[in-house]
Amino acid sequence: MNLNLQDKVILISGGAKGIGGAISLGLIEEGAIPIIIDPSEEEGVKILEKAPLKSLQIPIRLSDPSDSQKAVELAFEKFGRIDGLVNNAGANDSIGLENGSPGAFAESVSKNLFHYYHLAHYALPYLKKSKGAIVNISSKTAVTGQGGTSGYTAAKGAQLSLTREWAVELLKYQIRVNAVIPAEVYTPLYQNWIQTFENPEQKLADITKNIPLGNRMTTPEEIAAMTIFLLSEKASHITGQHLFVDGGYTHLDRSL
Ligand code: NAP
Repeated sequence: MNLNLQDKVILISGGAKGIGGAISLGLIEEGAIPIIIDPSEEEGVKILEKAPLKSLQIPIRLSDPSDSQKAVELAFEKFGRIDGLVNNAGANDSIGLENGSPGAFAESVSKNLFHYYHLAHYALPYLKKSKGAIVNISSKTAVTGQGGTSGYTAAKGAQLSLTREWAVELLKYQIRVNAVIPAEVYTPLYQNWIQTFENPEQKLADITKNIPLGNRMTTPEEIAAMTIFLLSEKASHITGQHLFVDGGYTHLDRSL
């Protein structure tokens, strides 16, 4: 299947590592131009080496609206178009009801959610021209809960709502907006999280035995494949959808 992504310019927040890194690499394989918005320069360089002329890293940690504005403007200045946006940067920071505070909750929601809006807002004029696509990377925790992580789940749930809201608002521009929902993907972030348990190997085994399809973790490349398909014209009649890429972990019978 030719996805026709050749020379398409795609912004990816958190595009240097983990899921975002796999999306950037997958886009390079398709001949597209990933714009990696991520402070991790060492990891970004390894990706850029695969396509030095047809990729760009903007090494910033998105926070204020001006960060997103700057990233969008830099991408447009260099490549003259923007065809897609993958909102992906985020981290489960365990700010709960009992173990949190109003200030920490606000900060967690802000860190995980606001730049999704900022990037979409500033990229919109260019996406209107290209009839581009947006993919929001959310999380299974938005629909199942996890416990002890109110800020993160509030942000992840809001990303799913915004996917529907933006899909409706942007119908008139033929801009499609979808969400991909990972559950258990072995990334640097996940590796750090699993190490917080007393027996990380046992914890990992307990989790994977409950993943129905193959009793294994989802790979970052499997999340990237769905994301890249949704960015492409082959997904031309898909919008406002929440796509679970999780080996059946969220919905299938746990006794399987
Ligand atoms: P990861 O391994 O930590 O990679 C994320 C990358 O994004 C890192 O390079 C990180 O840099 C960067 N980043 C974080 N905040 C940023 C910001 N504000 N601006 C720019 N870059 C930023 O994480 P991942 O596991 O691939 O997760 C990617 C997305 O998938 C997140 O939204 C996460 O919630 C979601 N997700 C992941 C899983 C999973 O099992 N891994 C499950 C459900 C949902 P630093 O390392 O320097 O912070």
